Amino acid sequence: MSAHEMDQAQWEALCEQCGLCCFEKIEDEDGRILFTSTPCRYLDITTRRCKIYKKRFKVFPECVQLTPELVKELKWLHRSCGYKKAMRKGIL
Ligand code: SF4
Repeated sequence: MSAHEMDQAQWEALCEQCGLCCFEKIEDEDGRILFTSTPCRYLDITTRRCKIYKKRFKVFPECVQLTPELVKELKWLHRSCGYKKAMRKGIL
């Protein structure tokens, strides 16, 4: 099944809820991405779940809605992210 054939639940199930994408990141002058220990204010750091998940784009417009195209493009998405893994498996 390709990403474009997935429904929303199947797409979201690719997320492993590690929460890594919800920490602030810095890009250095060489283009390397460094993860900080500062989480998004809406991340529950114990459960690693977003506290406003269903309304996150409304409450916090800076939150990025992942798409198959973005997963391929984004350098700051961690290598261990479920979407990056799906990309390497050829699902995306
Ligand atoms: S980094 Fe990937 S797997 Fe982890 S929470 Fe973010 S989208 Fe989900």
